[in-house]
Amino acid sequence: MNKSIILKKRPVETPTLSDFDFIEFENEPSVSDGEILLESKYISVDPYLRGRMSDAKSYVPPFKVGEPISSGMVAEVVASKNDNFKKGDFVSGLLEWKQKQVSTGDGLQKIDNSKAPLSAFLGIVGMTGLTAFLGLHEIGKPKKGETLVVSGAAGAVGSVVGQIGKILGLNVIGIAGTDEKIAMLKSEFGFDHGINYKTTDDIKSAIEAAAPNGVDIYFDNVGGPISDAVLFNINQFARIIICGAISVYNKTEIPMAVAVQPFLVKNSALMQGFIVSNYADKFPVAIKQLSTWLGEEKLKYKETIVEGFENTPQAFLDMMDGKNKGKMIVKI
Ligand code: NAP
Repeated sequence: MNKSIILKKRPVETPTLSDFDFIEFENEPSVSDGEILLESKYISVDPYLRGRMSDAKSYVPPFKVGEPISSGMVAEVVASKNDNFKKGDFVSGLLEWKQKQVSTGDGLQKIDNSKAPLSAFLGIVGMTGLTAFLGLHEIGKPKKGETLVVSGAAGAVGSVVGQIGKILGLNVIGIAGTDEKIAMLKSEFGFDHGINYKTTDDIKSAIEAAAPNGVDIYFDNVGGPISDAVLFNINQFARIIICGAISVYNKTEIPMAVAVQPFLVKNSALMQGFIVSNYADKFPVAIKQLSTWLGEEKLKYKETIVEGFENTPQAFLDMMDGKNKGKMIVKI
């Protein structure tokens, strides 16, 4: 018996469970020469998957209706007719939401679970850790003593961005959606200030109070009114990393926002979109540094683990709704 999760229909605004479906197969897939059979262990549910559920042109093609969804996953090789992989190897890479699947191994990385737990290869030493490290360094160009604001601060990317900011000697302000998350940012991750955007009426003034010398770097994971409020506080030569815009991912029409041009011109500021895959040549250096900081316990990571393949769609919906702290992962 094997199961797969498909996109049943394209979500309209906020996705629901009815947008997903399960397909069951009686037989295990068979392996031909050059192929491996993979058993799924962990599935990463990520905000960018929402974009792929829509039929819109983007940097990755949309999912096809009626076909399996795919995302970053960790799997175990359970049979191999490929000399590069042996039974018992663990791999990570873009795979389909199936309990078992056949692969040629192309695009998969072998991972060593003596170096980090398997789930960490989907987070802190995987895509979201790389996003935090490279976005902050390559566009943010942080300098000791500067002030960094991070939105989506309690999630997979944001919680790592803020901690790296602290390692580098920045004043770090995190914006997130519950008091519990704000407490976690300060007590567990060492952020200097936290702002709950859901209970703060005037986010612009709250940022001003936490950053009396202004904001030098803004790591933007959310877009929308939160980001507008940050713009009012930027300094001369500020750097704004546009990593994501989760506040608009469920909108059918892109909302009007504050005009950014006056803020950028007045402050000679830089605003740049960031896609982690454009920095693939820097992944080895970034992973090495993240692993070193982890080993030195300068960097911590949090995961919200949901158990059970069947719960993957709900885990995705819950992540979009802010129910995760750190990286949202499904354990099969
Ligand atoms: P995440 O932050 O772990 O999870 C998403 C979080 O977004 C939720 O926990 C929720 O936290 C917050 N959120 C949901 N709706 C929101 C809204 N309307 N306004 C403000 N916050 C909202 O996800 P992640 O994987 O780390 O990704 C964070 C961002 O980075 C996303 O925008 C994602 O698309 C982007 N990203 C970009 C790249 C790239 O290469 N460009 C790579 C990875 C991720 P609250 O409780 O705080 O609302």
